[in-house]
Amino acid sequence: DLETNKSKLARVLARRQGGIENLIGGTSVPAQSGKTFATTSPVDDSHIADVARSGAQDIDAAAQAAKAAFPAWAAMPGAARKKLLHKIADLIVERAEEIALCECWDTGQAFKFMSKAALRGAENFRFFADMAPAARDGQSLPTHMHMNVTSRVPMGPVGVITPWNTPFMLSTWKIAPALAAGCTVVHKPAEFSPLTARLLAEICHDAGLPDGVLNLVNGMGEDAGRALTEHPDIKAIAFVGESKTGSAIMKQGADTLKRTHFELGGKNPVVVFEDADLDRALDAAVFMIYSLNGERCTSSSRLLVQQSIATDFQQKLVERVNNIRVGHPLDPKTEIGPLIHKTHLDKVTSYFKVAADEGATIAAGGSAPEGPGCYVQPTLFTDATLDMRIAQEEIFGPVLTVIPFDDEADALNIANNVAYGLAGYLWTNDLTRALRFSNAMEAGMIWVNSENVRHLPTPFGGVKASGIGRDGGHWSFDFYMETRNIAFAM
Ligand code: NAD
Repeated sequence: DLETNKSKLARVLARRQGGIENLIGGTSVPAQSGKTFATTSPVDDSHIADVARSGAQDIDAAAQAAKAAFPAWAAMPGAARKKLLHKIADLIVERAEEIALCECWDTGQAFKFMSKAALRGAENFRFFADMAPAARDGQSLPTHMHMNVTSRVPMGPVGVITPWNTPFMLSTWKIAPALAAGCTVVHKPAEFSPLTARLLAEICHDAGLPDGVLNLVNGMGEDAGRALTEHPDIKAIAFVGESKTGSAIMKQGADTLKRTHFELGGKNPVVVFEDADLDRALDAAVFMIYSLNGERCTSSSRLLVQQSIATDFQQKLVERVNNIRVGHPLDPKTEIGPLIHKTHLDKVTSYFKVAADEGATIAAGGSAPEGPGCYVQPTLFTDATLDMRIAQEEIFGPVLTVIPFDDEADALNIANNVAYGLAGYLWTNDLTRALRFSNAMEAGMIWVNSENVRHLPTPFGGVKASGIGRDGGHWSFDFYMETRNIAFAM
């Protein structure tokens, strides 16, 4: 229960009182400048720990460590890498509760979801561990004169830059395939949530990952992040975060011809037709925006509902939203905890005024209690139209915008006319329509009659302002590896 979790957390945090240092070449070190920044909890604004505030010098040290460790790591047989990555997964499972408690305290996410996210982190390692032995597999393409042998080789040291939402799970999703491919890594986690990235680095170290294979450098995006994207020894940047940061990174990496992979923002529609299984659609629509505080790239932040069923559907939705449990993230019954940070809370709540000014109805929520803590009520906007900012911009909180539509053409127009294209959700029992509509949707991932369920070999990523490139299965290896052809004359 809540009290037990609180006392467990107190024990875990006591071990972090010395602060959070970088981990470079297997050694825990402060930033070379000696500077730190404070990470605080969005639950009660309390100080958690001082964190290394790194700059270009620290990034350089980490890049050198990753470069030095690369040849031996790349040459290690895939079967040996597989064993090591499974060991990391075992230690994640052993420490899953500690990871979940830290994640809740650092980000405000509910324990209910974070306990699963920690285990998903272990799954990410197991999945790519099993792929490691075949990472270099290629093919032969003979001609009458040459025997062409194509294979994949790891790219070299890579940079991984991650955001603050579900940071542990996301970090493992990017780092596990890089390690399985034979790359070494410099990880720059988000400044709002540095706790679990440090746990991951420690776990990898304890599992016996050779020094320098995974290096952790904390700091701000503008200095540590920028230096990583500009470093000549870093061959690629895997980035998850906001679309505008993605374009900054593209510019920063231009001089060193950085290969980039971007998983960016979204304004994902859930489209509900009158012929759908409406009870299931309602469950999924609620889950996909109000779980994980709505701070989730694949959240269904726009509900497109057919006019003929809109009034009834909205009424049920209001009831559901008003019954969502907002509370302390360590309480296992809590569904929504505080948002990550005061600045993000201000951003999310600023849309309450935008909605009112634009003429939408605030059908549920629409306010935030006085602090301490970054709490906000789950909120529902109805009577919205496509041109409104609440229908176009990523709010990234527990806020759903409902836009009614007349027919299929109208729904498609609304679904596609946004800058983003990460995910789409479609509810209909008409198979022909499902095929036609999903084929015309501008999104990298579409779920039909389902909420977001991940199968790790499938491609994950977005189109338009939602990203460039795909993760998952061999798509991850295509990013972290070079394809090479050797032609033997016969
Ligand atoms: P952000 O872009 O502000 O920050 C992400 C990371 O980039 C942080 O580590 C930050 O320090 C770093 N950074 C910032 N400026 C940088 C620069 N100039 N150079 C290098 N690094 C820099 O994003 P955020 O607010 O932490 O995360 C929320 C965003 O992430 C949302 O838009 C969300 O949709 C997106 N997201 C996308 C996915 C996906 O898979 N598509 C998954 C999770 C989150």
